[in-house]
Amino acid sequence: MNRKIRQTLLAVGLIVGGCALFVLSASLHQKMNEPPEETPKPQRAESAAPVLTPAPELTPEPTPVPGPLIVLDPGHQAQGDDTPEPIGPGAEETKARVSDGTEGVVTGIPEYELNLTVSLLLREELEARGYRVVLTRETNEVSLSNAGRALMANELQADAFVRIHANASEDPAVRGVMTICTTAKNPYTGALYPASRALAEVLLRSLGDAVGCEEGRRTLWETDTMSGLNYSLVPACIVEMGYMSNPEEDLLLADDAYRHQIVLGLADGLDAWFDGQIE
Ligand SMILES: [Zn+2]
Repeated sequence: MNRKIRQTLLAVGLIVGGCALFVLSASLHQKMNEPPEETPKPQRAESAAPVLTPAPELTPEPTPVPGPLIVLDPGHQAQGDDTPEPIGPGAEETKARVSDGTEGVVTGIPEYELNLTVSLLLREELEARGYRVVLTRETNEVSLSNAGRALMANELQADAFVRIHANASEDPAVRGVMTICTTAKNPYTGALYPASRALAEVLLRSLGDAVGCEEGRRTLWETDTMSGLNYSLVPACIVEMGYMSNPEEDLLLADDAYRHQIVLGLADGLDAWFDGQIE
């Protein structure tokens, strides 16, 4: 090939090549400006599906057995409610839904406040011992009737329903501990009597021992006048921790160390009741 032809071919080649590049680039340009092609959306479930790997062989651990359930009812509330409610399911006799309780003759501490403070401490102690604990109230600003509190324990199918109160008497010299349960003839909870009576007995003894209360000042009262016991379908009792109308006992009930003794006494009593160690 002579030089002239080679130059001509080169020139033609360059032109052809240039044209090809131009066409390619124009086509690409057009492609990029096209709306994206519709692609089927991936199924969410598929895209999110985890990679399945065979489960490793696990040594089965024993399922922890949940502890017994105790419902604690810190008695009363900041505002009483005089609205009458039947004292038992279907009863004609009525009683105020709930009162605001008594108060310390020296300290002026309201009973509802003391009841809640001790109940919160008792919950802590019982949970540390493996029980499950539910309080009917965790603040003083609630509106709960006595029957309603028992219905909570029923609904939760509690193993025990313990109502925390403090006592009052017109005689300021009266002091001591008390527990209250229904009678054997209670028309609403009759079948529960042996269990509730045993609970009241063991808590009275254990609480009395813990706070150093002499035998003569320990009272177990059986009555069918307490709505909060009459509606209970689980073993239930009321604990009266002491008399807020007695100046000395009122001061003791306000003392942290004394409250701690009460809590230990009640927790020991519940341990004993659940263990069936009742004499
Ligand atoms: Zn009370």
